Amino acid sequence: MNRDHSHALYGRALSVLPGGVNSPVRATQPYPSFIDHGDGSHVVDVDGNRYIDYVLGYGPILLGHSPPPKVRDAIADRVEDGIMFGAPVEAEIELAEFVVEHVPSVEMLRFVNSGTEATTAAVRLARGYTGRERILIIGGGYHGGNDAFLVDGTPEKAGRPGSPGVPSGAAKDTLVVPFNDAEAAARAFEAHGDEIAAILVEPVLGNSGCIDPVPGYLDALRQLADDYGALLVFDEVMTGFRIGGLGCAQGVFGVRPDLTTFAKVIGGGFPVGAVGGPTEILERFTPAGDVFHASTYAGHPVGMVAGVETLRYAKEHGVYGRLAELGDRLRAGLADIVADHAPQYTVVGRDSMFKIIFSRASTEPPGETCGAGCRHDPDCTRVESCPKNASHVGEAEGDRWERLFWGDMLDQGVMLTANQHESQFLSAAHTDEDIEVTLEAYKHAMSRIPTGV
Ligand SMILES: *Cc1c(COP(=O)(O)O)cnc(C)c1O
Repeated sequence: MNRDHSHALYGRALSVLPGGVNSPVRATQPYPSFIDHGDGSHVVDVDGNRYIDYVLGYGPILLGHSPPPKVRDAIADRVEDGIMFGAPVEAEIELAEFVVEHVPSVEMLRFVNSGTEATTAAVRLARGYTGRERILIIGGGYHGGNDAFLVDGTPEKAGRPGSPGVPSGAAKDTLVVPFNDAEAAARAFEAHGDEIAAILVEPVLGNSGCIDPVPGYLDALRQLADDYGALLVFDEVMTGFRIGGLGCAQGVFGVRPDLTTFAKVIGGGFPVGAVGGPTEILERFTPAGDVFHASTYAGHPVGMVAGVETLRYAKEHGVYGRLAELGDRLRAGLADIVADHAPQYTVVGRDSMFKIIFSRASTEPPGETCGAGCRHDPDCTRVESCPKNASHVGEAEGDRWERLFWGDMLDQGVMLTANQHESQFLSAAHTDEDIEVTLEAYKHAMSRIPTGV
């Protein structure tokens, strides 16, 4: 595969952009493919190589890279009629009404410009509402680049900054517990319960290989929040309008959060985020209330139009049902391949999210896999050893994934996310044929994995 133009562009980029990119995960080894254009389920790089794309902007691109004409025209019309004003437009109400209609926990929203801004605003709102300062987050979850979330979660260093530049004052109020460990969360509340403003959790841990909650885990967090008067915040930046369709992941697991953060799909590919919840809490935001939030670009007209037109299209065309079927077929195919070539590996994901985690062989015989994605089924023979939190994913064969497997897939024209922590996504543009080609590519790449590792 010739990638000379990408090579040259990365050389130029390294002179003017730190690491040659504007977000670190894009700096894939040995150098990234620069994209020329998208085409439905595919991207084409500047050397003309075509890839089936499962990165999809790291989640936002629900409908594929060729927007349906109705969506594209609505965006174009918005641009032609003026891009932004600093005065409200109707599309802000339309997107808010759409979310309120479909997500029962949400009565009102405040729009922002990214997932990071959404979680940042949600934490300020929770702190303002409860009058408390600490927050509880999940190790290996990701809530964006705000100082308060960049906290070391290892037990020895808990509560210390996770990056140079994060002041200790910003980190000291953040408690970190592992995913799927309700007892650890309960212990944190026993120690600090009357100081905790909010629990932030991704209902499916999408930033550590796409791990399902074990049965009852989200209910236990709901109960702790209720018992101690903290707010339960579901960070649905990734899962929102991907898992569980229009009702989001909270609908699948039947747990009602106090606040929900959205971004990614909700902006139809444009930088949009949102905090949603009950009127009583949301009206604490300025100017209705006293918790400061403002932004020049919040509720940006182009993003609002892209978001609402994308979601309406998904609803009107049965996109979520089809994506779930496609996802099940893909995951079932992956489970067969894993059973043949590396039975210790774990297929994870649900609906339009998927991944293979290169779990190491445990002392147990590998036994069966959950056919279309690990659900921590108590009757499964591997339930004790399947990955349940970020450390388990961290202990897996990350180097093999990143340095061998990922490149083998790329060489076969399949673009996956760059490491085994990042979820992969399907779009409405992916076809049955894409799935077949992808499974063949996985089969070949997996056949190069040494057996019995
Ligand atoms: C991507 C992501 C964020 C951060 O969103 P940005 O738009 O990159 O700031 C926050 N939370 C979750 C769960 C995410 O997946």
